[in-house]
Amino acid sequence: MLTIGCHLSSSKGYLAMGKDAVKINANTFQFFTRNPRGAKAKAINPSDIAAFLEYAKEHGIGRILAHAPYTLNAASKDEGLREFAKNTMEDDLNRLEYTPGCCYNFHPGSHVGQGAEAGITHIAHMLNTLLKPEQHTTVLLETMAGKGSEIGRNFEELRKILDRVDLKEHMGVCLDTCHVWDGGYDIVNHLDEVLDHFDQVIGLNHLKAIHLNDSQNPLGAHKDRHARIGEGHIGLDAMVRIINHPALRELPFYLETPNELDGYGREILLLRNNYI
Ligand code: FE
Ligand code: FE
Ligand code: ZN
Repeated sequence: MLTIGCHLSSSKGYLAMGKDAVKINANTFQFFTRNPRGAKAKAINPSDIAAFLEYAKEHGIGRILAHAPYTLNAASKDEGLREFAKNTMEDDLNRLEYTPGCCYNFHPGSHVGQGAEAGITHIAHMLNTLLKPEQHTTVLLETMAGKGSEIGRNFEELRKILDRVDLKEHMGVCLDTCHVWDGGYDIVNHLDEVLDHFDQVIGLNHLKAIHLNDSQNPLGAHKDRHARIGEGHIGLDAMVRIINHPALRELPFYLETPNELDGYGREILLLRNNYI
């Protein structure tokens, strides 16, 4: 069965997200651990978590994906900003222990003029101070579109980060279809070659989740503007090949398309109907 969900608002808590997911025939979902701009997180509500875990088990919801605030920059040359990223992620990882076994995705960051090497060193250093042998969450690096000085614009940069992390068993990668397309990887005409390249550079065993988004821009645009499924430059046929690809079909897929809940429901139905 296709494992698919979408990005949901976490403002009403875990159980409310679970119910929204079931409403649209999703069997997973993604959520921000706090306001995406990085404000203080709401306190964990143990009874909400307990009710959610029960509900998730009953309704076959598994492998949920938490997303770090996108304003964090672990690659910054400003020590204060790096410290803020580290503290926020540390707090998130502590909170995620209440829902053991999920993944936590973050944007590697932007080097803002120091060069990718320096940025990569900062990111790996943060992960090495953050990751603990006993944790139950897998931390994912997201493939980025390469806008500005974003790190993760190609598979090689993510490999360099992974190479420098000690507890690699707690690390993985989330591939965003809009981002890799904008980054110049032609997943429309050369999906097999792109995945072979991913396997050679990073290893498909490290791929843990897919952000399934169409793109408003052409190949290599480095823009990062998501489009609804089938309404962008990637197109529905390529999306259907992606969810059915032997190397990808068992992974969880997350929609981050410009939609409200009912629009997500229509995309999930469309993709389920095209999953062979
Ligand atoms: Fe993201
Ligand atoms: Fe994404
Ligand atoms: Zn994006």
